[in-house]
Amino acid sequence: MQLTTEHEELRRVIRRFIDAEINPYVEQWERDQLFPAHEVFKKMGALGLLGITKPVKFGGLGLDYSYGAILDETTAYINCGGVPMATGVQTDMATPALARLGSDELRREFLAPSIAGELVACVGVSEPGAGSDVAAIATRARRQGGDYVIDGTKMWITNGTQADWMCMLANTSDGPPHRNKSLLCVPLKEGGKRAPGVTVARKLRKLGMHSSDTAEIHFEDVRVPARNLIGEEGRGFIYQMVQFQEERMYAALNAATACQRTIEATIDYTRQRQAFGRPVLDNQVIHFRLAELMTEVEALRALVWQAVEVYVQGGDCTKLASMAKLKAGRLVREVNDACLQYWGGMGYMEETPVSRSFRDGRLLSIGGGTDEMMLGIIAKYLGILPGKPR
Ligand SMILES: Cc1cc2nc3c(=O)[nH]c(=O)nc-3n(C[C@H](O)[C@H](O)[C@H](O)COP(=O)(O)OP(=O)(O)OC[C@H]3O[C@@H](n4cnc5c(N)ncnc54)[C@H](O)[C@@H]3O)c2cc1C
Repeated sequence: MQLTTEHEELRRVIRRFIDAEINPYVEQWERDQLFPAHEVFKKMGALGLLGITKPVKFGGLGLDYSYGAILDETTAYINCGGVPMATGVQTDMATPALARLGSDELRREFLAPSIAGELVACVGVSEPGAGSDVAAIATRARRQGGDYVIDGTKMWITNGTQADWMCMLANTSDGPPHRNKSLLCVPLKEGGKRAPGVTVARKLRKLGMHSSDTAEIHFEDVRVPARNLIGEEGRGFIYQMVQFQEERMYAALNAATACQRTIEATIDYTRQRQAFGRPVLDNQVIHFRLAELMTEVEALRALVWQAVEVYVQGGDCTKLASMAKLKAGRLVREVNDACLQYWGGMGYMEETPVSRSFRDGRLLSIGGGTDEMMLGIIAKYLGILPGKPR
């Protein structure tokens, strides 16, 4: 895809913001196991960074997804995975369906303040009993008069302890599992306090992504007005499958730059580290391997930008986005493992960036659809997936 001077200027703005407002605080946020989402998002909102692809009418910049892709790539310059992931939730996971299909009233209430960074969003698909098998979710939103009444539990929710609202997938009828679901905007707070019936049951402790908060959230008789429905009732499964495409492109775009940074840091380290009288980098087994991995990174980047181009042109990017997400999950693991090895003992130390990348990056093959789910989608698009009984 041909990038313009506007794309590059946007990249420069984001890099400057990260250097001034995020990276100086990352070590503290990693130690705290929490970053201040409201504070950071307000600053990003003021620069327009949370609404790059969103309609101008609701405070967005109204640009096409290629500009959003620049944000997704560039947040990999943040010195941890948790903050980029939280930002990705706000821009590419919790708000795309609302921006496209929500009523004006709903978009004024939830989208506009999320673009401004006044509200923190989260996306609630996964549950204790259903992650990969999205159709098997058990949370119910029963229609009662002018309201939906919600009961259920959402699991592994990024931004979950801080979020003001959730883009929730719930069962709104007893029909077939792909046609009984709807997407709803569910407020998690009311007047600065927890909304009635909403409980953040646990802040989950994780292998990595420490500055990002992850929660289990319970809903018991939670009432939301029926007007909080996004689009049409019963079409939530399909809407969520479409919404996943931005999430998967975000993941692959971010991963490509993260891998590039890890390889570059490894080149710097191995160039100055001496063993047997010469730089570690001067061993052919090492510089060839790094050259090979950087080639893989460029191949991933080309693949994901191909998906972005199809999406910008209004085509179905599902196959390419799934391929890019799969490749990203696998490449991140390969790059982090190989590079950590070349850092030797220092690679195993908490203080080195490669050890953080190793922990944070492992999520990519799991979150937003596992590698195995990506393979299933790709096989389906290739016409080689046997029929599934359901
Ligand atoms: C840090 C973190 C943040 C997250 N953030 C969010 C969030 O904000 N919102 C949200 O909704 N979810 C979130 N998730 C959940 C994430 O999307 C799920 O963990 C993921 O989709 C996998 O679901 P699962 O954990 O239930 O795995 P399972 O579905 O239990 O699968 C376990 C394993 O079995 C494999 N498997 C399952 N079925 C098959 C099959 N048919 N063939 C082959 N292999 C199969 C899977 O690929 C996987 O490897 C997050 C998870 C984590 C860890």
